[in-house]
Amino acid sequence: MKLRFYNAKIMRRPDLPLEEGEVCTEGGRIVSVGARPEGFIAEREIDCGNNLLMSGFCNAHTHAAMSLFRGVADDLPLDKWLYERIFPMEDHLTPEDVYWGTMLQAAEFVKSGITCIADMYFYPDEVYAAAKNARLCVALCCGANSYSSYDVPAFIGKMLAKYSTMSDRVRYFPGLHAEYTCEEKLIEAVADIAAESGAPTYIHLSETLKEVGDCTVRHGGLTPPQYLHKLGFFDNGGLAAHCTYANKDDVALLKQSGVVPVINGGSNLKLASGVAPVTSMLAAGLRPALGTDGSASNNATSLFREMYLYSCLQKKTMKDASAVSAEEALSAATVNGYSALGFDGGVLEAGKFADMVLLDLSAPNMHPLSDIKKNVVYSADTSLVLMTIANGKIVYERGSYHIGEPLGKIYAECEKRIKRLIAEAGF
Ligand SMILES: [Zn+2]
Repeated sequence: MKLRFYNAKIMRRPDLPLEEGEVCTEGGRIVSVGARPEGFIAEREIDCGNNLLMSGFCNAHTHAAMSLFRGVADDLPLDKWLYERIFPMEDHLTPEDVYWGTMLQAAEFVKSGITCIADMYFYPDEVYAAAKNARLCVALCCGANSYSSYDVPAFIGKMLAKYSTMSDRVRYFPGLHAEYTCEEKLIEAVADIAAESGAPTYIHLSETLKEVGDCTVRHGGLTPPQYLHKLGFFDNGGLAAHCTYANKDDVALLKQSGVVPVINGGSNLKLASGVAPVTSMLAAGLRPALGTDGSASNNATSLFREMYLYSCLQKKTMKDASAVSAEEALSAATVNGYSALGFDGGVLEAGKFADMVLLDLSAPNMHPLSDIKKNVVYSADTSLVLMTIANGKIVYERGSYHIGEPLGKIYAECEKRIKRLIAEAGF
């Protein structure tokens, strides 16, 4: 389908000044930015009303189906949250639960302007089916551990083969849950798969102080990134979620290994984990991406909130109001995520993925329009999303969802399923 978005304020990328003009798309790609190509006849013309057209957001760390657990595991210490609530419910998850939970999250993603995700969860085929319904660009990340009841290396091999050539909008990342849930043999096996396939890896890394302390005791003083590096886990680079307690040497090692940290400020605050050293990461030349984590630990999948926290937590920690600019936060939420995941999007340029969001600039909290980029990071929220375009299709438009399943059915399925899961988990 050919679409023309005219009368727009355009953010090609966060480090460039905004411009006025139009964007044309055909199929899943952007055809032109600025002016309409000669002879381009659109099947639908959209008057953007002088609002802001920018890249859709990339949520580079989430567990989408955990939307089912929203509101049932709050205000608890991390170990109780995980061992007494989340794990017992996850023991009873079915593939259909994961499909409907991911659909609920997909609805929230498109309403929030998110067009690209990295999802680490059980049943990747069901995650992919739901993401495909909503036209999302998706990185499926293995989150297995040594307690997984299946042959993890064989499963990763199968998934890699299946998703490597399927579409340019899906990738599979060999990965593991975290150092503290995986034995050395399993980490080495996944490192071997990465070495053979050339694939980058994905893992939760140095999320809490306890995780880092326990790792150094277990492994002769090595921190989680140092230990994983020693085992070859990051030989092809990859992504590491959290990195809350990465020290200076760890940050240098991540940079050297081509590992992109994915910062989850909201989740780290709510679970009282800490604040990632983003200022040192930027100084070392890393380009972090942003993630919301799952809805049991955040609980909103809003990249607006994550951008605000990404910047303001550094200002507070560094006692420096100039730390992490709005433009750096916008880059982390868009181009850095797409590029870390190896997807051809995150910027408005001819040839790139037609993944975009139209933001309402008529709201009081966006005025005056003195600096729209600063307004988006420090003042905007998801209520300003007028339209979300993923893979060249309008998937959300002023309260209407085009995600392959009716919203009412998604809500009903999720309500039914979480009641069952709580009963089965027995709390
Ligand atoms: Zn996570």
